Amino acid sequence: KVRVRFAPSPTGGLHLGGVRTALFNYLFAKQHQGTFILRVEDTDQTRFVAGAEEYIQSCLNWCGIHPDESPEKEGAFGPYRQSERKSTYRPYAEQLVADGFAYYAFDTPEELDAKRKEVPNFLYGRATRMGMRNSLTLPEAEVERLLAAQTAHVIRIKMPEDETVTFNDMIRGLVSFDTNLVDDKVLLKADGMPTYHLAVVADDRAMQISHIFRGEEWLPSAPIHILLWRYLGWEDEMPQWAHLPLILKPDGNGKLSKRDGDRLGFPVYAQNWQDPKTGDITQGFRELGFLPGAFVNLLAMLGWNDGTDQEIFNLDELIAKFSVERISKAGAKFDFEKAKWYNQEWIKHTEAADLLLLVKEQLAIKGIVAENDTQLETVITLIKDRCTLLTDFSTQAGYFFVKPEKYDLAAVQPKWTAEKAGFFRSWISQMSAQPVATELETQFKDLAAASGLKPGELMLPLRIMLVGGKFGPGVFDIAVLLGTTETSARIEAALE
Ligand code: GLU
Repeated sequence: KVRVRFAPSPTGGLHLGGVRTALFNYLFAKQHQGTFILRVEDTDQTRFVAGAEEYIQSCLNWCGIHPDESPEKEGAFGPYRQSERKSTYRPYAEQLVADGFAYYAFDTPEELDAKRKEVPNFLYGRATRMGMRNSLTLPEAEVERLLAAQTAHVIRIKMPEDETVTFNDMIRGLVSFDTNLVDDKVLLKADGMPTYHLAVVADDRAMQISHIFRGEEWLPSAPIHILLWRYLGWEDEMPQWAHLPLILKPDGNGKLSKRDGDRLGFPVYAQNWQDPKTGDITQGFRELGFLPGAFVNLLAMLGWNDGTDQEIFNLDELIAKFSVERISKAGAKFDFEKAKWYNQEWIKHTEAADLLLLVKEQLAIKGIVAENDTQLETVITLIKDRCTLLTDFSTQAGYFFVKPEKYDLAAVQPKWTAEKAGFFRSWISQMSAQPVATELETQFKDLAAASGLKPGELMLPLRIMLVGGKFGPGVFDIAVLLGTTETSARIEAALE
């Protein structure tokens, strides 16, 4: 039975790398009629950010990635927040000590700091552990006394010497680690909380996780996890791992991080807390005007393709077509221009009716209230092929609802003549005599012919009068939608 988990730490926003991890787990689970679990890894209380858990849940919701089990949707394997499972971890750490795979360490933070100052790149492990205060170096009676006196201590894994730890990664194949290069990681902290390493193994087992998709940055932790599965006697229950390729900047250099600033590190959507470093409330993909479907689609393509040229997939197609064999080992480049292309395609292929609410939201941001849904739908149909981001709708649709404030006079002035002004005056009087919007184009062309003017030369001025600039769909489409009253009012206003 396939059971996968997405296990974020609620330490800040959810960035695209994180959602991609969630998505790949989700796709794999759904394809195998399995279960997708959201587990909140909140054991590091110093990095806890209030609101982050809710934020992560709502981002997943927005993407349409709905967990089957989560803190909000308890299943049979709860609780789904590690802080609420606190009491379950210590016995495992103690068992490891009893079996000789871990040890108590009594070094105080000050002692460790001093050591780190004294020895550059100090690693607590094979080469150094004998010089420290722990249950491997202190006499047994002293260890017992310290424990009985409830002296602050941690439990560390005792990394074996000269061993090679190997596992078969679903994406990378066989991966090996030299245990001499791994330090004795803390498993249980002085506050009784497990570290990530112990908690992740204990919970993956408790929750019967079968497969794990996680970022490549966790690969160095794999040997510690494998040894824990082995030392706790659970090796035959170990899940299969897949370490997803890094997400790189468009030039292929360097990993993507929140600190990249610019567009690369945008969260899914604006967090309602300030960035502790910059004090900013960052905009996210949602505020930038991405459709959730497009966002999910572009994430899926970061490190995966179906082997054909197809690039546009909805969530159901992704579930059907996803395959681990087609995930690449090489880093995936994230290019914001390409991301916008996905969104543009999605807008093009989404029915106007399905964009209605989203466009209304965009217009509302600009203070524009579109009351007539039928009319707005027609507007959307007319302009959606010109919109890359949802935010473009307010520029492209705004003039249907409010008359232009400014006119691009430079575009018409050089060729403007009294004759042309005369033409527009006669046209609007004709319009008021015969106010039939669908006749506007014919009226216009007939009148132009009668006045000996080329319609082509009149169309740009007309456009500027109606929308203010050189943009928008067919000018008569605009006029028809505006109706004769508004069209003539705008021409009149512009002629003044
Ligand atoms: N809590 C880890 C994180 O923040 C989970 C890593 C894993 O999937 O093992 O990403």
